[in-house]
Amino acid sequence: MTPEQQAKLRDLPSITELLEAAQARDWSGAFSPARLTHALRLAVARARRDIVSGNLETPVTVAALVDAAHVALEAAACLGLRPVVNATGIVLHTGLGRAPLADAAVDALVQVADGYANVELELDSGQRGKRTDRVAELLVELTGAEAATVVNNNAAATLLVLNELAQGKSAIISRGQLIEIGGSYRMPDVMDKSGALMHEVGTTNRTRLSDYEAVIDESAALLVLVHTSNYKVVGFTHSVPLADLVELGHRRGIRVYHDLGSGALVDLSPWGLHDEPYAAESIRIGADVVTFSGDKLLGGPQCGLIVGRAEIISRLQTNALARTFRVDKLTLAALEATLRLHLDPGKAISSVPVLRMLTESPEAVAARAASLQNGLAALLPGEHFEIVKDVTFAGGGSLPTVQVPTTTVRWRPTTMPAHQTAERLRQVSPPVIVRLQDDAIAFDLRTLTEGDVPVVMRAVTQVLGPSKDPP
Ligand SMILES: *Cc1c(COP(=O)(O)O)cnc(C)c1O
Repeated sequence: MTPEQQAKLRDLPSITELLEAAQARDWSGAFSPARLTHALRLAVARARRDIVSGNLETPVTVAALVDAAHVALEAAACLGLRPVVNATGIVLHTGLGRAPLADAAVDALVQVADGYANVELELDSGQRGKRTDRVAELLVELTGAEAATVVNNNAAATLLVLNELAQGKSAIISRGQLIEIGGSYRMPDVMDKSGALMHEVGTTNRTRLSDYEAVIDESAALLVLVHTSNYKVVGFTHSVPLADLVELGHRRGIRVYHDLGSGALVDLSPWGLHDEPYAAESIRIGADVVTFSGDKLLGGPQCGLIVGRAEIISRLQTNALARTFRVDKLTLAALEATLRLHLDPGKAISSVPVLRMLTESPEAVAARAASLQNGLAALLPGEHFEIVKDVTFAGGGSLPTVQVPTTTVRWRPTTMPAHQTAERLRQVSPPVIVRLQDDAIAFDLRTLTEGDVPVVMRAVTQVLGPSKDPP
């Protein structure tokens, strides 16, 4: 590199300096600090690349880089798929893309998106490697399994496992676990598509170990345990714990598959979020293969994680379906970064947005609600904004019975019905998605960050603007 290039690189301002300058602009309220920061990082990265490739005309002033970030943010706002503000309180909102990624995951994703990456190349040997090797290593460390692999989502993982281990043979499952996740994902249909012969046992509310044992014959290939992640059967119930199924499976030479659904990797019970099984626990108990989602309680990109016995994982990887479920470099990059954060549970809780939102203290949520209410009341004295203690849910088919305490700012607009206001809030930039409750708008602070508060205030004033001040 020439001395001129080096000097030019040294002239690049810091992100902190750029962020301060961006925040002083009157458009900055439309974008959260996190989005501003990412846009600025991208602008700096682009300038750095230009300089390295010999373009010394590249402007490196604060003003030029902030302008470039603004242009990129505005362009993103015109796309059909664009960032929205989630004021619904539902942390894993499938309609809003489930888990927002951790900063480290976004950075990893952007870096590989921008050019080529060693997806199937081992840099040390120059040999061809498996694209899932790096994340598999982390999953093995995090769960204690012998081996691991990754596919596009947990639905694909389920289909792949059933197809590989039970095609043309029987897969035994309790009638209490024939779940529907939504849309077209229903366990009996997935079984059917996989080619496995579903053998239901027990009843909706009670299934015993002897029910499974009674139907085991030479066609039996798999004992299937599905975590009923999005509903709960309560009252006169009995289901067979994994440990008993494992004992039965091993005694009769039949494999045990545990579909965890969410599959948290961090123990969330200290925060009252009970009843989510952990992959590491299922492996320890002896499940032969375990699957779970990447974008539920793990807080990563959409994908399906499969951990278990090495022999099973390697069979899954050579199954013809595996190619149709293959993850791309963007998923791999974001997943690897997210899994790295999970190596330190404390770090995962503080830096993975889903975990941070679910574990944040009710007091901190209430404090943000007070700041939103004060801000709105000051801007719009004619409107009434009320603080309401409420509960919300994890969403995304996780923790269906766990009520997460939250605080909302409730608003019954004076000039138009709440549903119409909600519609207008979806049309500002960035769109604000709210909860409608008792003919009122509820802004739920559980899913709103501090940076979102001024954005919501701006959206509300925009929505009321024209109809508020008649001549
Ligand atoms: C969510 C879920 C699935 C589907 O997972 P996706 O990653 O959304 O495809 C399958 N099984 C259970 C038990 C689930 O909760």
